[in-house]
Formats: sequence, C-alpha cells, structure tokens
Amino acid sequence: MPARPFDPLAAVRSPAEPGFDLLLAGTVFQDIIFTGLPHGPEPGTEIWSDGMGSCPGGVANQAIAAARLGLRTGLAAAFGDDGYGDFNWKILSNQEHVDLSLSRRVPGWHSPVTVSLCVDQDRSLVTHGHSAPVTNSELIGKPPKALAGIAELGLEMETWARAAHASGVKLFGDVGWDPSGEWAPVRLENLKYFYAFLPNQREAMAFTGKDNPWSALYALADRVPVAVVTLGAQGAMAVDSETGEEEWVPSLPVKAHDPTGAGDCFDAAFIVGTLAGWPLGDRLRFANLCASLAVQEVGGSLAAPGWGDIADWWK
Ligand code: ADP
Repeated sequence: MPARPFDPLAAVRSPAEPGFDLLLAGTVFQDIIFTGLPHGPEPGTEIWSDGMGSCPGGVANQAIAAARLGLRTGLAAAFGDDGYGDFNWKILSNQEHVDLSLSRRVPGWHSPVTVSLCVDQDRSLVTHGHSAPVTNSELIGKPPKALAGIAELGLEMETWARAAHASGVKLFGDVGWDPSGEWAPVRLENLKYFYAFLPNQREAMAFTGKDNPWSALYALADRVPVAVVTLGAQGAMAVDSETGEEEWVPSLPVKAHDPTGAGDCFDAAFIVGTLAGWPLGDRLRFANLCASLAVQEVGGSLAAPGWGDIADWWK
C-alpha cells in the first residue's frame, strides 16, 4: 500500500496498522461523459457537447473519491478483459493508489459502458453490459480486515454485505440499479447489516414508497442507525438514530457541469468523517462540500477532490 499524502485517520488508528480503511466490492464500468448539451439527442439530428470525459465508473467512483481523501482503499471488483479494463486497472492502481489485490480480470468479458449525457444540471444515461459477480472466495469466506465497507443493496451483494457485517466491518450502503423494483423487499430486509444508508431523494422515495424525501428519510432511519438522503442541488439531510442528531445542509451555489459520481463522492467523504468520529453535521457539511466541488469539473470519478482542493474551503 503506497504512502498517503494525507492520512485523515492518523488520529484514530496507527498508520502502520494492517488492513484497509475502506473496502468496496462491485463492477468497474467505463464511463464516457458528454457535458453542456443543449438538449437530449433527437433522431436524425446532431448535437455538440462542450466537454467530454472518459474515466473508470461504477464502483470505481467511490474507490477513487475515497483514496483521494486519504483512505487506504481496497477494491474487490470485476474488470473487463479488454482495452477499457486495461485503462481502468492502470488508473486505479498506478494513478489513484487503490489496492486491487482482491480484484480480477474476467476472461472474455467486455467492460460494461455507460454514456452520460449532461443537459443543464441533469443527465441521462445509456448503458450497455451488466455487472459481473465478484466470485472472490477470500472476500466472502473471510473478509479482509477493514474499518468500513460500501455495498450496493443488490442481490449480488447480499452475501458480501452479510460477511462484512459478521466480521465487524462498518457498512455503508447505496442503492444499486433495479429498474423492475423486484429486489426492493430483499433490500429493505438487508438494511439490518448496514450502519448507514445514503440514497439520493429519488431512490429513497422509490425504495420506501414515500412521496417526499423527509418521510423517506425517517422511514430509513427506522431501519439503519444513520440515514442520509442527498438532494442534488439542494444539499443533503440526515438522521442519526443513535445520537438523536438531525441535520440538513444546503449545497454550495456552484455551476454543476458534470453530476456523474456526485453521490459516490458524497459517500466517500461521509465515510471519512464517520471514521474520524466527527459529529453528524460536520460529516454532512464535508460530504456536501466534496460533492459540490466534484460536480463543477468534467471528468466523473476523476473530478473527485483531494485534500489539496478542499484546504481553502475546509478550515
Ligand atoms: P446522486 O449523484 O447519487 O444522484 P445527488 O444528485 O443527490 O445524488 O447528489 C449528491 C450530492 O452531490 C448532493 O447532496 C450535493 O452535495 C452534490 N450535488 C449534486 N448536484 C449538485 C449541484 N447541482 N450543485 C451543487 N451540489 C450538487
């Protein structure tokens, strides 16, 4: 594990202590992002974008954001057996210092690709391909030592979430893609393995069946110690049922060029604050700051801020 330029957890654990601060499992997608489109594509027309990014996506969003904030980050992920897989593997391990010793290339499998079309502050996605299971027995049978883990609440992640929880990993969750909604009951049941759950408002309402984000937040707070709902340009809100804290923070008034991975960046920063033992309000403000900085830059996962970018804002 390479030395970190900044170790946010040095005060709460020895930098020499073995293991990961954060362990993630999932699939690395190839993200291709077009920003500043005047409108979505229409048949038979051509539209021009003012910016473009090509970067690791999927679970790599959270991994890169966490590593840039100084967490010792391990990723157990499936990578495609193609040029995108080569590109993403190199970026994560050589440039971003994410530990890939638990990851694997899947022979003959093509990286899934997501194209993000950003119009104003919103975006549409076109995806081809699907997740590949991380059939990594080490991860499931005897999870490596880690302070925290992130799992998407999908069926494929259920075993990992259970194993991580049983070995004392503090689990943070987000909602995986589930267009049919058929996994929702399983996922609600599996929230018992999680310390915190951080969906965006659309996901939170769909997930709980509530018609507004506040009700959805409280419904989630009945099931997990810490419930967070992110509100895009409106910021984020959270309830910590263990301490009784309730907080809402507005986001920074920034011009969002590329919202790709904003929620993932938010999650990683929230985890930094949690592991460092900060009060809920500070965790929320820090996560909101990091995500607000990220959306101003084009580049998806590679727009996540590091401590050098945050220093002027976070004193
Ligand atoms: P997701 O990216 O998971 O869909 P959100 O859209 O709620 O989640 O965004 C996550 C966080 O990113 C927000 O809570 C906020 O901190 C930041 N963010 C997103 N969009 C904007 C925006 N237009 N302006 C400022 N901050 C934003």
